[in-house]
Amino acid sequence: MSFSVAELYTSLLKAFGHQDWWPMDHSYHVTEGTDPRDEVIIGTVLTQNTAWANVEKALSNLKTAHALSLKAILDLKEDQLRLLIQPSGFFNQKAQRLRLVAEALDKDLDGFFRQDLSRARAKLLTLNGIGPETADSILLYAGNLPCFVVDAYTKRLCTRLPLPVANDAYETIQQYFEQELSRLFPEQQIQVYKELHALIVECAKNYCRTTPLCTECPLRRGCQQAL
Ligand code: SF4
Repeated sequence: MSFSVAELYTSLLKAFGHQDWWPMDHSYHVTEGTDPRDEVIIGTVLTQNTAWANVEKALSNLKTAHALSLKAILDLKEDQLRLLIQPSGFFNQKAQRLRLVAEALDKDLDGFFRQDLSRARAKLLTLNGIGPETADSILLYAGNLPCFVVDAYTKRLCTRLPLPVANDAYETIQQYFEQELSRLFPEQQIQVYKELHALIVECAKNYCRTTPLCTECPLRRGCQQAL
């Protein structure tokens, strides 16, 4: 038996329940009068090459400094920004990337997300240090646009289960998931893109780690690499 995307989604949803990503602090934005989408955009850059727990510390620092918005990122002095985001690692690079993203999006976030999806994606990909995973996370979670996110965890599951796109390129894997999920859930496409990505992360953090913990894994039945 091999896995289909439908089985993957239903198995993970049954095991972990709805994840309701992206995690963000709505009350902060109500109090500060800032746009919650800014927190998502900032979080997508900070989460590059680090664990979410480190991102949370950096986000907490930004909140304490009343600086969890794209405008505030542009207003901060660069050394202040580096210090605040230090817990997320690679803070010199990430400070530069945050400024680039903030410059590109801050003036007209609604307009940015209203344009054609492929144009918005292409524009994000021109920004130094913004690759497909970060761009697609911004488009899906901040823009609420139909763009499935392929991360290292997704690639790992594709290879281990396997799915037909094991070892394929980012865009090939993305198209496969988008086609399958759109066919299966035509009315809930965006919501299911978000949910499955979050569920895959949950499975990979708990079970399908670098050294897999297969015994309790909800995908064990049918996984060809189950130990
Ligand atoms: S059974 Fe093991 S290898 Fe397969 S998905 Fe689960 S943890 Fe990964």
